[in-house]
Order: sequence, then structure tokens, then C-alpha cells
Amino acid sequence: MNTIQDYLSSGAIDIAPLLSLVLNKTNVELVTHSNYPLTFLEKQTLDDFIKQRTNGTPFSYISGKKGFYHLDFNVTPDTLIPRPETELLIDIALDLFPKNYPCKLLDMGTGSGIIAVTLADKNPNWQVTATDYSSKALEVAKSNTTRTIEFLQGNWFDPVASQQFDLIISNPPYIEEGDAYLDDLTYEPISALTAGKDGLDDIRTIINQAPNYLSKSGFLLLEHGYDQQAKIVELLSIKFTNIQKFKDYNNMDRSILAQKK
Ligand code: GLN
Repeated sequence: MNTIQDYLSSGAIDIAPLLSLVLNKTNVELVTHSNYPLTFLEKQTLDDFIKQRTNGTPFSYISGKKGFYHLDFNVTPDTLIPRPETELLIDIALDLFPKNYPCKLLDMGTGSGIIAVTLADKNPNWQVTATDYSSKALEVAKSNTTRTIEFLQGNWFDPVASQQFDLIISNPPYIEEGDAYLDDLTYEPISALTAGKDGLDDIRTIINQAPNYLSKSGFLLLEHGYDQQAKIVELLSIKFTNIQKFKDYNNMDRSILAQKK
């Protein structure tokens, strides 16, 4: 195979974005330069990418990038690939406070940093802290920052002992151990995906401890699994009030907001 057109007609999975990536050309340029013959090195790189993609490596781990909200994020196999439904957390958080309120925000299990970085970028006067258990994930998150963020390594609230926040957000692991859906996610870090038999182990920890780290009437905002909302409302109702439930853009129950009693 030689030209862009040869590759485009090969039917290889994600061939157009892979060509764009290797040749640094837009979709339109691929068509307008379809007779361009690839160099030996370009072919070598592309053939390697095609092989990885055919074997199941997600495109974002090949490109090392994924768009989220208004920014482009570096991702590696140490971080989940950002999901579009997590943008819901951003929309909810952006509506919570008056425009110039200097919100003190904690993003727990930040991964590639999408929640902390997006909100800090949108609200430069917010004071943002982001934590993760994985120091490798924190390195990725740091590479994505556009504003000052405090990054701390550790398990859930351990790194922020004795601090209080106006808003705590987390997209924690929430898939049930052994869920068949995980078979499709074998390239992503399992520690960022599963949380015990019912998928609620981490959410329980967060809900139980969050009141100690929230300022008066502070907010807790969580992403969760499509079938976990009722159980989470029950857990929250002990120490939280004003519980609001949200559906994602696929009309699935996906996140919940609550205010400390
Ligand atoms: N929403 C992700 C998925 O469905 C899971 C992320 C998570 O467990 N927080 O793949």
C-alpha cells in the first residue's frame, strides 16, 4: 500500500483518524491529498498504529489525547479515557455558585484531571485541589493544567485531612466487580473502574466521610452507575439534604448532587 487513498479504502478500523494522526492532516486534507504517497517511515508508524487498533487498543491511547468540554487532554493507560457523560458534572458545578464566588473545590480521583482542570480553567478565581491514589495519573493530570491547581496523592480524603471545601466532586470507580461490560475496557486501569461487589464501595466511603470535609451547606457531586441512584439517595439522606438527581445525555441516571445538612 502506498497512497492515502490506498489506506482509506483498506477498511482498517479508524483508518481516517489514524492517517490524520500520522500525517498531521485534517479529514478534508486526506481527501484533497488522497494521491499522496506515504514515506517509508510514515507507513511504518501507521502500520504499527493499525495493528494496535486492530488488537483493541483504544484510539485515545494511540493518539494520547481526548477532548473533554472545551479542552484537549493528555491521556495514558494510567488514566481512564474521559467519557462524554462526565461533562454533566461540569455543567452542574458551573451553575452552583454566583459568578465571582471563590469556590474551594476538591476533585477526588482526578485521573487525567478533566474535572479539576476544566473547572479551574472556567473559573480562574476558584481554589482547586485534585487528588488521586495513582501518582502516575497525577503526572498526567499535572501535564493537563492550564491554571494553578494543588495536586495531592492519596486515598480519598487522606491527603486533605482537616481541610474543608465548598464543593467536593468525584467520578469514582463504580462498576461491579466481574461485570461483563469490563470485557470491553481491558486497556483501561481497573482500579479506576470497579468498586466491590455492588460497585458502591468507594461511593459509600465518600458519602460517609464527605461531611467532615465540607463547609457549612457545602455540596457533594458524584457520578454513578445507571442503576445505583436509589441506593445512593438512601446513603446520602442520613447527612445530606436538597438531593438532586440528574440523567446523562443518553437519558440514563448518571449523577447526584446533595448539600450537607
Ligand atoms: N462511566 C465509565 C464507564 O462506563 C466508568 C467510569 C467510572 O467507573 N467512574 O466506562
